[in-house]
Amino acid sequence: MTSALESLIRCLATLLPGELRPSELPQLLTPRRHSPLLDQRRATMIVNRVRLFAFLFAVLTPLWAVIDIMIFDFSLWAGLALFRVLASGAFVCLLLFYRPSGNLFEAYRAITLLFAIPTLFYVASHTLLGSHQLTEFSAAAATGYAFLPFVLMAGLSIFPLTLKENLTLASLLLLAQGLAGYLGWSTLNWPSFAGGFWLLILIAGVTALASMSQLAFMIALLRQAIHDPLTGMLSRGSGEEILDLHWGGAQRNDSYLSLAFIDLDHFKAINDNFGHDAGDRILCAFATHLQNNLRDADSLLRWGGEEFLLIMPNTDMAQADQALQRLMQHGLGNRPDGSPLTASIGLAERRHDQAPSCHELLELADRRMYLAKQGGRNRIYGHNSLATQQA
Ligand code: GH3
Ligand code: MG
Ligand code: MG
Repeated sequence: MTSALESLIRCLATLLPGELRPSELPQLLTPRRHSPLLDQRRATMIVNRVRLFAFLFAVLTPLWAVIDIMIFDFSLWAGLALFRVLASGAFVCLLLFYRPSGNLFEAYRAITLLFAIPTLFYVASHTLLGSHQLTEFSAAAATGYAFLPFVLMAGLSIFPLTLKENLTLASLLLLAQGLAGYLGWSTLNWPSFAGGFWLLILIAGVTALASMSQLAFMIALLRQAIHDPLTGMLSRGSGEEILDLHWGGAQRNDSYLSLAFIDLDHFKAINDNFGHDAGDRILCAFATHLQNNLRDADSLLRWGGEEFLLIMPNTDMAQADQALQRLMQHGLGNRPDGSPLTASIGLAERRHDQAPSCHELLELADRRMYLAKQGGRNRIYGHNSLATQQA
């Protein structure tokens, strides 16, 4: 029974987005475990698309009044035109106030406003149309207004969103549809309203799938773009972006941020004596070992060759020094001949070193790594007072 269940689960798992690793699948459900870099890229993409939609809506919404005037009598047209001008003005404000900043909460606000404006327009115009006696022709044209929620729901699919985010936005649209039905209660045609509501739920389901598969693609592409193919650690290009993000956060909160520049000792000799492949294996084993012994909040980047950068947010100089000492004491791995692999480490911390910029903090850690080399290798060099040597 259990084996049948297991094979069913395995079978179902093959239907899931193949570009994702099993450990990444929960990222499709909620944004809780997204990396800061994914948050930043997603926020930028969402705001860019909000701006594109806002521009299109700002232009098309008032233009439609030209068509309305041919269909409706003047008083109804004037009411609808007023709503159109207000909606268009709101879209222009959205376009002016939101620029991609990489902040996910701003992106949430932008997307909510983008959907709130036409939703309010829909509820208002629906109510206004419901209160007018329409001729057969204009009633047929007015049904076009009822399509707006479907367009909005389908529009959600252009954003890379998690299931939770999709459900939140879709329920707001469903709620607005329910509200429009409630306000037009007296003239409501129940069977067609229920049919429309059901269709909206179906579109919400398809939209959630489209939007989550965009997110899956984005997660996979980002992983490939930001990781070094040999060691699987973060690569230098993305590392600079990650460092900027951590620096920005540490500046805002005036919190600790430690950087450790790690250079493996006498690594060239491994290549010279045992071949490049052996060198590669040692590099991978070292990076994996270090990664497995870090806290979740720490980031390990391959800076180049046999040099790594370790970013430790909310960690002061003494704590960072202690953590690295412990790592060195437990060993960093072995060279092909069985002797211990060692490294020279330069340590710098934002508050302790009063670094004015991220770049200078990095330079300081790099300089201290060279001092550690000069001091005899296999050691950590922090500030003078903390210069420590492995036993
Ligand atoms: P030091 O203790 O002064 O750091 O000596 P070192 O030999 O580690 O330093 P050096 O800068 O002279 O040499 C670094 C070596 O790292 C040279 C290069 O062949 C090797 N290396 C860089 N990237 C890779 C890689 O991806 N794979 C392998 N196998 N070796 C690499
Ligand atoms: Mg080097
Ligand atoms: Mg070296």
